[in-house]
Amino acid sequence: MVHFSKQTELVQIGNRKDEKHGAISTPIYLSTAYHHDEIGLGQGYAYSRTGSPTRDVLEEAVASLESGDDAFACSSGMSAVQLVFSMFEKDSHFIVSRDLYGGSYRMFELFERNYGFTFTYWDGREEEQLNEYIQENTKAVFLETPTNPLMQETDIALTAKFTERHELLLIVDNTFYTPYIQRPIEEGADVVIHSATKYLGGHNDILAGLVISKGEKLGKELKYLHNACGSILAPFDCWLLIRGLKTLALRMNQHEKNALIIQQFLEDHSSVTDVFYPRRGGMVSFLIAKEEWVSTFLKSLKLFSFAESLGGVESFITYPATQTHAEIPEDIRKEYGLTNCLLRISVGIEDEIDLVADLQQAFQECEKLLNLEV
Ligand SMILES: *Cc1c(COP(=O)(O)O)cnc(C)c1O
Repeated sequence: MVHFSKQTELVQIGNRKDEKHGAISTPIYLSTAYHHDEIGLGQGYAYSRTGSPTRDVLEEAVASLESGDDAFACSSGMSAVQLVFSMFEKDSHFIVSRDLYGGSYRMFELFERNYGFTFTYWDGREEEQLNEYIQENTKAVFLETPTNPLMQETDIALTAKFTERHELLLIVDNTFYTPYIQRPIEEGADVVIHSATKYLGGHNDILAGLVISKGEKLGKELKYLHNACGSILAPFDCWLLIRGLKTLALRMNQHEKNALIIQQFLEDHSSVTDVFYPRRGGMVSFLIAKEEWVSTFLKSLKLFSFAESLGGVESFITYPATQTHAEIPEDIRKEYGLTNCLLRISVGIEDEIDLVADLQQAFQECEKLLNLEV
């Protein structure tokens, strides 16, 4: 088979899949039930929780994009996380990234209360710490890289050496970089999770999650659980996600180009004390000089939307302390650097000149406050 680049692979998702009619755009099969001619003789589908043609096109494409063997489309990123953790028995222990999506943190708290799971939080930097954290009942390491919202990268390949040595699973939430930038399975991860609500969908119009797995054993287990628990993605949303994925390469290129420019602008700005950007992807966090400025800054922005998500074509700004990371107690947050001065930008694909101008005028509004003070 010809091997295409990721960009080509993305654009071609669904094309040449409709053998009957040759549709270029993947047909949306809404049918929940499928006819059987006789006992045991169907045409590949029975009931749409178990599988449906539109979802199959998406899942096959995503498995290939992430260099995995199987993929499972879920109703949200959180249901993807839940699907993966439903593989583990009660009283299991996990090592997970410290700087983590607030919703995942909340789910882990719930697992602690209800299922006796325990979690040790790791800063994702010093690999030796993993040796201290491992316990007899440790089952997996769960990473977000880069971390959210501090944008620290964790070395997946190095972590994979540890998990292989101790026969643990390595699970990576790849929402921020997408398979266009980073493919954890190629670096030794066993399972990849996505909130496809973000970059993969890309247009702030679907809530979706994905799980991608390596190897037959994991694939079988996840397939069983996906059907048994039922948090599947509906056909129309599968179609919207396929449509979004077609432009992922174009969008990521523009997100990154704009993010590099915004990083430079913020680093040069006197009202900014720190910028967090790993020079890949479209997420940039920064510390504004004064906590009292946050509200004025957010109110003054005319182009950036003050909204709680990321990865769409429109530029967003988020205040993690009261939004995405409000679930994490303030003392814990502050300890690892998620302070009340931190703002997180999801850089969109607009013209960079307009984006920089908008930030510039919002900083000017803040500086006016300074003049009032003196
Ligand atoms: C948004 C997000 C999730 C949760 O996904 P939903 O689609 O909102 O359920 C999980 N992980 C990361 C990194 C996210 O940004």
